[in-house]
Amino acid sequence: MLMKHILPNLIRLTRELGREERGLTITGEGNTSATLGDGTFWIKASGLGLVNITARGFCRVQTDKVLALLNDPRVTDANAGAAMCRALVNPQAPRPSIETILHALCLTDPTIRFVAHTHPLGLLRVLCSRAGAKPFRRHFYPFAVVTCGRHIAAVGFHNPGLALALAVQKELTRYRRVHGCSPRLLLMANHGIVALGRTAEEALNITLMAEKWAQLLEGTQRWGGPSFLPEHAFAHLNA
Ligand SMILES: [Zn+2]
Repeated sequence: MLMKHILPNLIRLTRELGREERGLTITGEGNTSATLGDGTFWIKASGLGLVNITARGFCRVQTDKVLALLNDPRVTDANAGAAMCRALVNPQAPRPSIETILHALCLTDPTIRFVAHTHPLGLLRVLCSRAGAKPFRRHFYPFAVVTCGRHIAAVGFHNPGLALALAVQKELTRYRRVHGCSPRLLLMANHGIVALGRTAEEALNITLMAEKWAQLLEGTQRWGGPSFLPEHAFAHLNA
């Protein structure tokens, strides 16, 4: 993708995620990012809603400077927001989202170019329950396997910012070691999800499919629980 197309694609993705009828985010929830492939990435500015976002709602940050915050003993949860501003390419730009470190971690895989973080209603009904991410460890719907991947990544509850970023770093490292690639879907207990896309469209599709998966999961509870896919279904799907 040409560099000049990255921000317009990111704006389109962000607006799609913000559409009210989809129930993926309300008010200032959620954020998106896209790598420019030159050591910098676009990230949504802090506190803005998604649905009416424009180019002014994004700021460009330096990936290595964002990631350095994870290993800097002077950075705490209290000052991480201000420290993040030091990673801005244009210091006059608005303050980047508190989740910028999480996005940087996802974008360290060069195949991942668009990252979408949302708080979808159906998924949160499960992720805020005692079950957490556990019900998503087994598949019952083949189209969820195709779009969201055979294996999901998951973290427990951590306060947004530094603590959550450290947990995500650990989980991404584990996942990449075990599966040899990045997850497409990361579930965060009591919080929301992250979709890791090779394209903007893929990040949107992963988010929409994960939400459908959660709604199906809830529906199956009325009919005796999910009927899990047999092993040969995964071989058929190449998953
Ligand atoms: Zn969030």
